[in-house]
Amino acid sequence: MTPSQTPALDTSTIRIIGSEEQHVAHNYHPLPVVVSHGEGAWVTDVEGKRYLDLLSAYSALNFGHRHPALVAAVEEQLGRITLTSRAFHNDQLGVFAAALARLCGKDLVLPMNTGAEAVETGIKVARAWAYRVKGVAQDAATVVVAHGNFHGRTTTIVGFSDDPLAREGFGPFAPGFVSVPFGDAAAIEAAITPDTAAVLVEPIQGEAGIIIPPVGYLAAVREICTKHKVLFIADEIQSGLGRVGETFACDREGVVPDVYLLGKALGGGILPLSAVVADDEVLGVIRPGEHGSTFGGNPLASAVGLRVVEMLETGEFQRRAAALGEHLEAKLDELVGHGVTAVRVAGLWAGIDIDPAVGTGREVAERLLGRGVLVKDTHGQTIRIAPPLVVRATELDWAIEQLKVVLAG
Ligand code: PLP
Repeated sequence: MTPSQTPALDTSTIRIIGSEEQHVAHNYHPLPVVVSHGEGAWVTDVEGKRYLDLLSAYSALNFGHRHPALVAAVEEQLGRITLTSRAFHNDQLGVFAAALARLCGKDLVLPMNTGAEAVETGIKVARAWAYRVKGVAQDAATVVVAHGNFHGRTTTIVGFSDDPLAREGFGPFAPGFVSVPFGDAAAIEAAITPDTAAVLVEPIQGEAGIIIPPVGYLAAVREICTKHKVLFIADEIQSGLGRVGETFACDREGVVPDVYLLGKALGGGILPLSAVVADDEVLGVIRPGEHGSTFGGNPLASAVGLRVVEMLETGEFQRRAAALGEHLEAKLDELVGHGVTAVRVAGLWAGIDIDPAVGTGREVAERLLGRGVLVKDTHGQTIRIAPPLVVRATELDWAIEQLKVVLAG
């Protein structure tokens, strides 16, 4: 990147970034922009420059920044009560859980906070189900996962990642996971034994670069899981809640998993809120005292979650994502061969592989930053975009124009 393409930073930006670098652990490498305000699909930095946010906090901001309906739900609840702990009942959790269960077509909801917690909870539930319902011998249960997976950052979860950056230096890891190629249903079936509790997959792999499995994969996983009495756990934390033009990515194949793992957009981009959603015969295995979280199911997050579910129930956001996604795909396809080697699009979610001759994904992200567009690179050569579902077609067109300029060098 030439110096002229690097965004010039003013002194207050440099000071704020410097302070963060001095006092915050270096577990991220953020782009050099200091955001202070956001509204809809746009954010503003401390210098007053505006940027179109095409990352949406990794899909946590599906409804955009500070959606008025979500802000209103929070403000209303802030004036009442925010936290009770689950030692007592609160008047929001049950209503939220009923709505979310209805959205998922399931019986029960187990509320947590972060995505990784939902994944951990899903694994615990699957193991308990294997011992208590399926009859697997104690401590023998296994879970089949996919190569290239990303399910979060806890030690158990990174233990079954194949990304060296995620796992090296953090062992020893929990046993009980078998990893097979993503998109290969036959490999899943071959990995299943009488001790298999669950198959845990992202219906579309997000962090890996928006990797879409072959058509029929999810339906085949469903069939295999049913045949072998194994739970199908769909990690829809990033792919779910409208992102792909349907409520869930599994809907693309008309597939219903046994367990949904949800997070990110469930909290409306305002609060961490995640959940495990399943039928009584699965989630009902968890007994009082066996699992919990101080903040899980708190009334403030529940109030936001309820509003999120109500917004999804209208179908408006799914329709927007589907229509805008088609528009986006047509535009991105035109870039292949012009600084882009491949694109993968599912709804309003895209992985764009950058031709190394143009630069790395990070370099393209930095140049786009200089042109008022926020994206994130992944795995070296890929940039992924997940615009807020409230974005306008004209805004997407403008962003693609900026990308074209960047790709042209
Ligand atoms: N599962 C998937 C598919 C994700 O994409 C992520 C985060 O990117 C997680 C789980 C972890 O969520 P969190 O960062 O909220 O722990």
